[in-house]
Order: sequence, then C-alpha cells, then structure tokens
Amino acid sequence: MSGDDEKPGGTSWKDWRWQFRHRVRTVEQLAQHTQVTPEMAQAIEACSHEFRFAITPYYLSLIDWSDPDDPIRRQAIPSADELEDPLGGRDPLHEEDHSPVKGLVHMYPDRVAFLVTADCAIYCRHCTRKRFVGKGGKMTDEDVDRGIEYIRRTPAIRDVLITGGDPLVASDAWLEGLISRIRAIPHVEIIRIGTRMPVTMPQRITQELCDMLQKYHPIWVNTHFNHPREITPESAAAVDRLLRAGIPVGNQTVLLKGVNDDPAVMRELVQGLLKIRVRPYYLYQCDMLRGTAHFRTPIETGLEIIRALQGWTTGFAVPTFVVDSPIGKIPIMPQNLVERGDGYIVLRNYEGRTVRLPNPSPSLPEQAVAAAAAVSTNGRASANGHSKDGAGASGK
Ligand code: SF4
Repeated sequence: MSGDDEKPGGTSWKDWRWQFRHRVRTVEQLAQHTQVTPEMAQAIEACSHEFRFAITPYYLSLIDWSDPDDPIRRQAIPSADELEDPLGGRDPLHEEDHSPVKGLVHMYPDRVAFLVTADCAIYCRHCTRKRFVGKGGKMTDEDVDRGIEYIRRTPAIRDVLITGGDPLVASDAWLEGLISRIRAIPHVEIIRIGTRMPVTMPQRITQELCDMLQKYHPIWVNTHFNHPREITPESAAAVDRLLRAGIPVGNQTVLLKGVNDDPAVMRELVQGLLKIRVRPYYLYQCDMLRGTAHFRTPIETGLEIIRALQGWTTGFAVPTFVVDSPIGKIPIMPQNLVERGDGYIVLRNYEGRTVRLPNPSPSLPEQAVAAAAAVSTNGRASANGHSKDGAGASGK
C-alpha cells in the first residue's frame, strides 16, 4: 500500500475501518504527528488512566498544532486540567438510577436511551458518559436481548435512542440486527441514533450504511458538532448521504470554555450547520462531570450566546439552551417577558426594544383587553399590534 493512500483523499484514508484501526492512542503514536512536550506526555499518561485517549487520523488532521488552545485539540487531547476538579461527579445525570436493565436509561415516560456500546472513534474529553465509555466494547447478546425485551413489554415507549458510546463503531450487520428487532416492536414509533461519526470519522457514513438504515424508517440522527472548523467537505458529504437516505440530521452542541463559548464562534457554527442542512437542536450546559471543570462556563454565558443569536440569525438556527440534570433536561432561555398585567404583556425584542401587546384573558371582556393593551412599541403607538415590518406567522 502506498503512502499516498494514507493521506487525506487517498483510498485508505477514505476507508472508515482504516481510520478506526489507525487511531492515535499513545504518546509515541502522537509523536509521529506533532512535537510532544514532556508536559503533554505526562498529561496524556496521567489522564488516560481515568479516561482513554484515542483520535482518528481524520480528526487529528483538523488540529492546528501551532495554537496550544486550538478548539479541536482541546476536545480530543488530554490535558492536566482534567485532574483538577473538586466538584464534578461520576454520573452527574444519575443515569444509573434510571436504568431498569443494563444499558437502558428510562428517564422520560415515552422514550429510552439504549447504550449499546462503550466504544467511540475518539474519546471526547468532555464526554458525559466517561464513567463507562472507553472501558469495554459492545453489549453482549444477552444484554441486548434484555434491553429489547424491556422495550417490548413497555408499551409507553414510542421513541428509542440508540447511543453509547457511539453505536456506529459497530458493523452494519450488527446494527441491522439490532434496529430490525426494535423496528418490529409495534409501539416504537421512531428510532433515533446518537452518533458523533459525521464529525470525528465521517468516512463511517457509507452509502451501504445509509441504504441499510433507510429500510427502517422513521430513523433520525443526532450528531455533535461543537466548532465551525469541524464542518469540512468530508463531514458535509457524510451528512448529505444521511439526508439523501431520508434521515433528518439534528445537532447537539456542548458549551465548552475555550472551544465555543463565544457568540461569534457559535453563530458561525449554527449558520455553517444550516448550510449543510443540519438543524441546531440543543446547546447543552457542560455537565457537572468529573474532569471537566476547565470546560465549564456560568449559565450566563449560554444565555448571552442565545441572546446574540435570537433575532440576529435564522430562527431555526437557534438551538434550545438546556441544562441536563438528574430530573431531565431543563430548557432555559433569555427572559423576553418584561411585564404581565391584566389584559396585556410587555415583551422585549432582540434589539432590546419593548412592545406592549394585548393578552386575551377569559376573565376580561375584549374591549377591556384592548384598552389595557393600547399597543405600543417603545412608546410608539401602532394601529394593529404589529410592528411596521411585522410578518405573518408563515413568514417567521
Ligand atoms: S463520541 Fe459521544 S459518547 Fe463518544 S466520547 Fe465523544 S461525546 Fe462521548
């Protein structure tokens, strides 16, 4: 095999199995790609005991080694900061308390997360499931049987999220065996797959995989872009293959200090995602997870980012900002409701301007609502309650 085959664009490079086999997993292997300082080597060795280190040649190629704070590097290369975290816990979402059988998390009444593997293409340093990710392979056949049996005898479950780890480390045949069994359960309406492959090893999204998945619609995919530099021709092509198979692709971003805690970076990310037809879905506050103190930001950072997006970009480019917790995901959004009184509300828009509008109330006659509201925008009266350039609902 020639060396060119193994360079970006080469035959081997495009083969996901080659990418997976050639992951960089040790200091010695990393030293073949960049200069590894003694501090880096020490951090990698020390952190790898807690949480494995592995990175695909593709994702490694996105790192700018001239920048010690490179956002791709921060996500993938262990740092000594991981060892300094007095507050973080092992299972901050208490997933294990909501696990009726091994590998299944049943937090909400109508849906489950099926954690079918502990492996991933890379081990993201902020991974919320690092308590088991990287510490073992796929579920055993018996564990899968038990999980499927639980779903089968729980008619309330209409939505199954196949996740891990990254389920797409498994072969197409193994995945098809799993998905076909879930699809055969009459009360399961949708199957979702949580995978970071379009970002970390886009070669995995082969045409064969997409052909297999589309036999089991409705299938949805959620992926995990955190930075605009992760949007590449390869990741765009991977997403395109999924979309052509009729699989909608959503994105969950984790808010990470030094990676994307900047409104300009986040705007570039969400607008870049729309260009490749990925819908920004959630922006997560970084969990209180052991080893991630250096990534965490105050809640105000997330609110500020949402404020900088709302109204300033396409509405569906704006993700929902959520804090995940032991009692589930809790959306928090900037407060745009300034005042609420009898028959009226005062709202603040993206520019900070306020508008007073009628608020229909069952206990007030319509005339009273109209009088209470006397619609105005920053004090300027408007005849119909819309701003002059206001669009109808279909134009939002
Ligand atoms: S791909 Fe997902 S599950 Fe795997 S390490 Fe990254 S965040 Fe964790």
